[in-house]
Amino acid sequence: MFQSSQEETFLVHIPTSKRRKVIPQPHSQMSGRLESLLDAADSHCHLDRCFAAPGAIGDTLSAIENSVTQPGSEYGPIRFFNLRAVISNFCDPKRWHLFENIINEDNRIYGTIGYHPKYLKNSFVMSSERMRMMQCLDNKYCLGFGEIGLDHYHGPDNQSIRLQVSNLYDLLDIYSKSGSNKALVLHFRGDADSGVYHKGLEIIKECGVQNKRIHVHCFSGSRNDVMEWCRACPSAVFGFTGIITKTTQYDSIIEYIPSNRIVAETDSPMLSPYNCKSPNHPFNVVQVLDKIAHIKKMKRSELYSKVLRNTNETYRIWREPRE
Ligand SMILES: [Zn+2]
Repeated sequence: MFQSSQEETFLVHIPTSKRRKVIPQPHSQMSGRLESLLDAADSHCHLDRCFAAPGAIGDTLSAIENSVTQPGSEYGPIRFFNLRAVISNFCDPKRWHLFENIINEDNRIYGTIGYHPKYLKNSFVMSSERMRMMQCLDNKYCLGFGEIGLDHYHGPDNQSIRLQVSNLYDLLDIYSKSGSNKALVLHFRGDADSGVYHKGLEIIKECGVQNKRIHVHCFSGSRNDVMEWCRACPSAVFGFTGIITKTTQYDSIIEYIPSNRIVAETDSPMLSPYNCKSPNHPFNVVQVLDKIAHIKKMKRSELYSKVLRNTNETYRIWREPRE
């Protein structure tokens, strides 16, 4: 159970402050060449944690940017590019009160509101939690509902799985009833034989949300899972993180998934890419994109623009699809 003082913070009225406008500055070494840089977005991270992680690089996106783009930064290696958007997932109820402050901090930041299965305590979502989620979902810079889902690592026993399943039904019901057309962010994790993606898809279909724009975050399923999901969910995309830079284990599944179904994410501050010092940060999305381009044998410029378009179509960051 949550303390009543915490429940109150869910509903505290936060005045809508103006989003701080950040105009990207050409990095010193690239002066005058900003137009030629590639554009990219981090489709999934946790800025509430990035700004406060042990050894946090900075407490704003610009502070992180300044630090990681310094020549010789130990948080790189960074190749220069334009980080056009960062989608920060707020999925820990204890940190939901940070939602407005963080998304107003920088005009490249957007949010989603959800409930990660590892933070679930009760077998249902409390009404104060439901209200706070709706309040965030109404925000025009909130682009999605999630992450929500099933995590067999955080709940390997039957009781925890049951709790996660009943909450997932509850959360999908909240999302459906909200009438929201914003994206749905899903988290499924378990061993290859856990069938977690299959089970998750059954619930998605049962709740009638398979036609929504869906981001299956940090995908680690099989070809069969991809086939099932693509058949059932016409607008589902699969997210890949820095994990793919540390192993060749994901190469064949990335090769298999059509490039119009892929988005790049950092899941920062977790999951630093190969050779990058922790904590992870949104600018490392460039490592993920480069690895996907390598696997797909595509030109970087082509892959970057394709993935950015997929991200935009899923989250509708900018109203018109970008060319
Ligand atoms: Zn996440």
